[in-house]
Order: sequence, then structure tokens, then C-alpha cells
Amino acid sequence: MRWLTMAMMAGMAAGAALAQPAAPAPAAGAAAAGPPRGYRDPYEGRKKLLIIADLSTGNQNAHIGSSHAVSVIEQIGRKAGAYVSIIRTDTDLVTKGEVWGTGAYAKGGPRQARGRNLDYFDAVLFYTNGETRLTPQQKQDLLDFVARDGKGFVGVHTATATAASWPEYQQMIGGSFDNHPWGITRARIIVERPEFPAMQALKTGDVLEDEHYQMLPTPYSRADVDVLARLDTRGLDMTLPGVHRTDGDFPVAWIKSHGKGRVFYSGLGHPDAAWDDSRVQTMFLEGIKWAINGGQAPRPHPMPPAP
Ligand SMILES: [Zn+2]
Repeated sequence: MRWLTMAMMAGMAAGAALAQPAAPAPAAGAAAAGPPRGYRDPYEGRKKLLIIADLSTGNQNAHIGSSHAVSVIEQIGRKAGAYVSIIRTDTDLVTKGEVWGTGAYAKGGPRQARGRNLDYFDAVLFYTNGETRLTPQQKQDLLDFVARDGKGFVGVHTATATAASWPEYQQMIGGSFDNHPWGITRARIIVERPEFPAMQALKTGDVLEDEHYQMLPTPYSRADVDVLARLDTRGLDMTLPGVHRTDGDFPVAWIKSHGKGRVFYSGLGHPDAAWDDSRVQTMFLEGIKWAINGGQAPRPHPMPPAP
């Protein structure tokens, strides 16, 4: 009976091998993040901005104007032919890894469809608040996207009030939010870099109504960032208890390098009315264009005296 047993076992083994299902063919979009058959990428050849408007880990009420903000950012880029925007209120695309949905849309699911990741984009914009839901790997991927890949990062308003416990991010963006001593107020500005395109619609003496920010002493440094404009403190109440800086240095916007990449930040943009101000629109359009394309190298400089 021994040979029978052996033959049966061999047959069973062969049968098992035959019954083994072939590896499933990858569904559309599984192998790469390209469009499914019959579709084409509508943004092929365009500069692409990933807008992250995720306030879910921050103040839930203060920045309701961020929806209007990101809709304006999308529109000005499109009208100028400068970039197209993908607006997300989650941070899933901030990764160099694979992006998948859940359930039927997860990897291996019946409708699996792989999403885009950072490699698709030329710049990332944060209108974010709180610690974010970014994993340590996502954080590293974002830093690499800028520093190693030489791409752009744009911070809007609360972007410096984001991920306070992540020092590498604060270093990349160039400053960390302290507070806004005057709440929403009308303040004059001093333009320090009138020749920079983002300043073309603004001039010294202009008044901007916004929730103007004060930066913590570190990491903000004029040795690191090129301040485009700052507040003129002569019209502001500097005796308020929230005023911590004694150097009168309250930047409104700056640019800086981060590794091979470029960072543009402005603390403007709290009230939704700010986004209907054509001067503010021009500043962000040109700042985003610079973050995407480059241009003038940052020129960090000491604070010039008020005119
Ligand atoms: Zn605010």
C-alpha cells in the first residue's frame, strides 16, 4: 500500500498545485497611480499644488474662512495659468508611499484605486492647525519633498500654529506662532523687498486688516528667512500684555530656502475678507509661483529701520 499512498500524496500535491489560483491581475490603477483605461490625466504637464486645509486637530471654529481661502487660492492659480490645485481636507496624500481608500477601495478590494502621492505635486500648501494626523513617516516624506526633491512649501496663517511639537517642521517653515496680541486689527505694513514679485501690489504704508501674528523667539531668525514685509508697530498698542517681542520684528510674509527647496509663508489670511483683497491675492499668487518655480534667491537681511 505504500506506493499507493505515495502516488495519492503526489496526486494530491499536483492537484493542490493546479488548484492554486493564479496571482490576481492588478486592477486599473493598482500598479501605478495613473488614470484608469480610457481616461487621461487632465493636469498632465501642469504645475500642481496640493492644498491641505485640515483643521481637524486644531481650533474648530476660528478659521471657518479657510474654505474661502483655499477656493481663492485655487481660482487665482487657474486664472493665471500658474498652477492647478488639488484641495484636500485630510493629509493622506502627504506621503511618498502608496495612497489607498478603505473598504472596497482599499488595496486588494474589488474597487481598488490607488491615489496620488507627493510625487505628483510641485508644491504643498498648508492652511492647517493643531498637531495634524501626519505619521512620523509622512512627516519625513514632507521634509524630503522640499529639502531633497527641491520642491515648494507654502504656509498660510495657521501653518506656523501647526505641529508645534515637530521642530523640523518649524525649522522648515521658518517660524513658530506665539500669539496675536491685537486680535483682528488694521495695521500698516513696511515692505522690505519691494522688488520681489509677491510684493508688487503692496507698498509701505498700506493698511491690512487681519489677525496679525507674533512669532516665538525661535526658530524665527532673520539669518534664515528673507522678510518681505513686516508690521509698522508705530500704529499698534505695544503695551498689551500679549506683546512679547521687544525688537519690533513682526513679519507679515517671508521666503526662505530649505535644502534644495523653497518656502513661502504669510501670516495673513485669517478673515475671509482678506482673500477678496486683490493685494493679498497677488501676494499669495506670486508667492506660490515662486515656491513652485523658483526665481530670486532668498536674501535674508537684518531688519531695516522704519522709513
Ligand atoms: Zn487666525
